[in-house]
Amino acid sequence: MNYYILLGPPGAGKGTQAKLIVEKCGYLHISTGDLLRGEIARNTELGKQAAEIINRGDLVPDAIVEGMIKNKIVENPNVKGFLFDGFPRTIAQAESLDVMLEEFGGKVDSVLSITLDDSLVFERIQHRAQIEGRKDDAEPATIQRRIANYHDKTEPLISYYKEKGNYHEIEGNDTIEAVFNNLLPLLN
Ligand code: ADP
Repeated sequence: MNYYILLGPPGAGKGTQAKLIVEKCGYLHISTGDLLRGEIARNTELGKQAAEIINRGDLVPDAIVEGMIKNKIVENPNVKGFLFDGFPRTIAQAESLDVMLEEFGGKVDSVLSITLDDSLVFERIQHRAQIEGRKDDAEPATIQRRIANYHDKTEPLISYYKEKGNYHEIEGNDTIEAVFNNLLPLLN
């Protein structure tokens, strides 16, 4: 079983690339953002709690997303591999994922990190706001908060995975096709 992580700031193109990777390689795409938006759409208790946090640009508690990921792994024992998108987003989540995968007899095979400058992140999210209508894309202050959280909480994962030797960086300021062509050789 292969386990891959798509890392990168909001708007870097993780979701777009995940779809292309899944078409080509058949891995199961797990986006914690999509799962959380599903909870919100169904108006579950979890969704109600998460909506408030997401719409102010903060991260939901580690335990919640860790639980979601574990459920997905348990529910899908026969897939070829997993492509995590938007998870892990904190060092605690990364450590928890390592423990989880060890239990399942696996490990993180590769971390594919799509980089993008803050100014471009901002532009892309403002553009996406008009297309997808996501509430957390609408307010400049929320976008800034998400960028700040990325630097504070998620960026430390770069050193975490560099030390483990499975970290790869791809420039995100390129065409969808070019980013995909750079990602593909990093997947089995
Ligand atoms: P983007 O990459 O554009 O920020 P996502 O769909 O990955 O969008 O995430 C949307 C929001 O969902 C995040 O801003 C955060 O509030 C919440 N979220 C998603 N994944 C996680 C996670 N692993 N840990 C905590 N919060 C998360």
